[in-house]
Amino acid sequence: MSNVVILGGGYGGLTVVHGLLENLPADARLFLVDRMPFGGLKTEYYALAAGTISELDIRVKFPTHPQLETVYGEVTGVSFEDRKVHIAGRDPLPYDTLVIALGCTDNYHGIPGAYEHSTGVQTMAAARRTYHLLGNTKPYGQVTIVGGGLSGVEVASELRESRPDLNIRILDRSSLMSAFPGKIQQFAKSWFLEHEVELRSQVQICRLEPGVIYNGEEEIRTDVTVWTAGIQPVELVQKMTLPKDKQGRLIVNEFHELPDVPNVFVIGDCSSQPFSPSGQLAQAQGAQVVQVLNARWNNKEPRLSRIRLKGTLGSLGKKSGFGLMGSTPIYGRLARLLKSGVLWKSRRHFG
Ligand SMILES: Cc1cc2nc3c(=O)[nH]c(=O)nc-3n(C[C@H](O)[C@H](O)[C@H](O)COP(=O)(O)OP(=O)(O)OC[C@H]3O[C@@H](n4cnc5c(N)ncnc54)[C@H](O)[C@@H]3O)c2cc1C
Repeated sequence: MSNVVILGGGYGGLTVVHGLLENLPADARLFLVDRMPFGGLKTEYYALAAGTISELDIRVKFPTHPQLETVYGEVTGVSFEDRKVHIAGRDPLPYDTLVIALGCTDNYHGIPGAYEHSTGVQTMAAARRTYHLLGNTKPYGQVTIVGGGLSGVEVASELRESRPDLNIRILDRSSLMSAFPGKIQQFAKSWFLEHEVELRSQVQICRLEPGVIYNGEEEIRTDVTVWTAGIQPVELVQKMTLPKDKQGRLIVNEFHELPDVPNVFVIGDCSSQPFSPSGQLAQAQGAQVVQVLNARWNNKEPRLSRIRLKGTLGSLGKKSGFGLMGSTPIYGRLARLLKSGVLWKSRRHFG
């Protein structure tokens, strides 16, 4: 009997579970461990936070199968020496093969008060909290989004449609969507100008206190601060003393396996890759882990092709968006429709 334990039922972990269930050897048992009783389509957490969708729209049921056990709980550690996963309030779970797909958390860059005085969208629990805070903000209150990358832009635009009365601003230490080509940046800036969202670049936040963000000596008043200013792997991975890249992501080999710890795979936002973290990448890695395990279980050498990603799509509310397909930018309603199509496919894929 071989125990395959998958930590995290998000984009990466669920891809592994669904893929393995298609061809599972009779003596293998799968364990899917997550702190949530269902999967969450994280790419839509911005809309949950803004109140434009219901949580039910972005939950996915975990699969059921006689050889799969779903374990509900908080993973607190992994002992690689004796091959056990520690889960709060339960006996340790032994594994023969382990897949770590626990995703990421906010990076506060050591800024004092940032964790205490902001809210976020990196977990479903955080997105729910943000939804409550934003929904309870007084009419014409001030919402500040820190970080003008994809997540910040999506939260701000969706919130504008959900709460036209609010004053919304985005602060960025560089400029809006600096990772995207100039034309896309310009398109997004025009959208925000038209929809009266304030954009401030070159803001060096040094501290947060209740209701105040400090840009050097300048005090920026705010009712709610939403933190979208960077990510890092989850705390459990942060604590692991294994080789990591500059972003703290675990270094893996071409099979997504820890080089010095055989049969432990790391995928998604926890793993070091030459791409930006994304749901698309986590799914591609998950599919490759399935290929590796199927090959090894059949005593074959795994053969993987290079991961190719299809591009990036972002939304500006429900009617507009932007995207980069290879090096071709797309804008407006078409980009938004494509993004909705990707969500529809993910929902279908994960059941
Ligand atoms: C607002 C926003 C918009 C985004 N838009 C896009 C987009 O348009 N396209 C795109 O490709 N990507 C997008 N992303 C990024 C994408 O969501 C992530 O890269 C992707 O979800 C990573 O997949 P993963 O499997 O690594 O982790 P996740 O999908 O985050 O899954 C991790 C799972 O692990 C569980 N977990 C974590 N820690 C523990 C623990 N200690 N114990 C038990 N369970 C635990 C979580 O509950 C979760 O189910 C977006 C992200 C955000 C926040």
